[in-house]
Amino acid sequence: MGVALDRKDFAAPVFRTERDGLAFEEMCDEIEELNIKKDQAAQAQSSREQSTYSKSTFDSEKDKTKFRQYEEASERVKKFYLEQHTKQTVAYNLKARIDFKLKVRAEMGIWEAMERLNTLIDESDPDTSLSQIEHLLQAAEAMRRDGKPRWMQLTGLIHDLGKLLFFFDAEGQWDVVGDTFPVGCAFDERIIYGTKSFSANPDVNDPIYSTREGIYSPGCGLDNVMLSWGHDEYMYHVVKHQSTLPDEALAMIRYHSFYPWHKENAYDWMMNEKDKEMLKAVRAFNPYDLYSKSDDVPKVEELKPYYMELIDEFFPKKVIKW
Ligand code: FE
Ligand code: FE
Repeated sequence: MGVALDRKDFAAPVFRTERDGLAFEEMCDEIEELNIKKDQAAQAQSSREQSTYSKSTFDSEKDKTKFRQYEEASERVKKFYLEQHTKQTVAYNLKARIDFKLKVRAEMGIWEAMERLNTLIDESDPDTSLSQIEHLLQAAEAMRRDGKPRWMQLTGLIHDLGKLLFFFDAEGQWDVVGDTFPVGCAFDERIIYGTKSFSANPDVNDPIYSTREGIYSPGCGLDNVMLSWGHDEYMYHVVKHQSTLPDEALAMIRYHSFYPWHKENAYDWMMNEKDKEMLKAVRAFNPYDLYSKSDDVPKVEELKPYYMELIDEFFPKKVIKW
């Protein structure tokens, strides 16, 4: 008899309040800063390439500075990625997926989850630069201002809620945040810090996982690929069966940290026709994630009614299983 992996309602919503929310937030910020720097360096590079009469000396000085900043990125981020690249294995991935299906970690609405994430992270320091709830609202508000569809605004609002994982059963920061990549096949050089950062990962010695295609085949489609476990993958699974959000929204959530793919064009051999469409969606989403932070601080209580209605539109059940 097969055991159905239905998520059972036996888990009480217990948050691990002993977790260092402040350190977690600092790591989130540093990871993001690094992605912004890389993005800006890439933009500068492409504008230099496009411009026939570029003021090469001045431009390149600026670019070099950016590049240096990127190279000198905090030792902490580097250490974080080394740990992540060592521990994100196929075995860990399977375990995390099974754990996800076997448990309901909490039951609460979307807005409640936003507030919860906010207090869990920011409680320790009321003066943090920008709270999680503000980041989510800023991304959503920027999309709303740009006339993006309602489902996309909602996607902006919820895309990082998977960070709650840090306060449920994550093993550390490394299985919650950071850029993501597939497991089960060779790690691509275009992943942040390159393949050498994976040298301590046991999968690099596996006869199958270490091959270019590993357990996959060309054109298999990203739906069939195991991405490293974290807030993106977790939130995607939470939302997939509990919302009426379109595939593009699910892709924005699932792949928003899959930088090697959406920024560096790695793993394009895995894609099927659907993924090509999804890639466009993810690329349209990315600037709102990276660059909405400079906007005005949103007035949470004023915006709440609008977003409560938006949540109700795409989440038929008010209470979500997390
Ligand atoms: Fe994120
Ligand atoms: Fe984000």
